[in-house]
Amino acid sequence: MFGDRGTAGDINLRAMLDRAPRSPMAGCAFHDMRERLRKVGLRPTRQRLMLGWLLFAKGHRHVSAEMLYEEATRAKAAVSLATVYNTLHQFTEAGLLKQLALDGTKSYFDTNVTDHHHYFIEDEQVLVDIPPGELDVRVVPNVPAHFELRDVEVIVRVRRRDRLALARASGEA
Ligand SMILES: [Zn+2]
Repeated sequence: MFGDRGTAGDINLRAMLDRAPRSPMAGCAFHDMRERLRKVGLRPTRQRLMLGWLLFAKGHRHVSAEMLYEEATRAKAAVSLATVYNTLHQFTEAGLLKQLALDGTKSYFDTNVTDHHHYFIEDEQVLVDIPPGELDVRVVPNVPAHFELRDVEVIVRVRRRDRLALARASGEA
């Protein structure tokens, strides 16, 4: 586990566009992305298709706008950071993504929109899904009458032991 870092592969936009539907990523091929966008009422523009493809073709992941922008740039897609931000928020509003805010400064977008909890690896700034059934929230607050409880998301903050040990050994901790 802890293996799903949001690293970008060497994805080339042309290769993405030309990829046959029966690739290993068949579930998220470009055609499917078009359908997926239409279903949630978003016009399948070229930029949305491209960003959607980058987001959803690699299984569940957690990306920031900056990470996705970097991937898009590496894929030779002419897209601005502002467009990436807007698209991520449009996808979120449409229910394709879940937004996870950390510390009020950093937002991650989760392609797994089911209810689940996360590890946050602090020293790497990486979010990882906690496997289903491993964390169980049994007691929740009584929300005020005019509110309804929508979701409870727990972020379990961790950091690597080996790094701590290393820091201690060199007198930094
Ligand atoms: Zn997640």
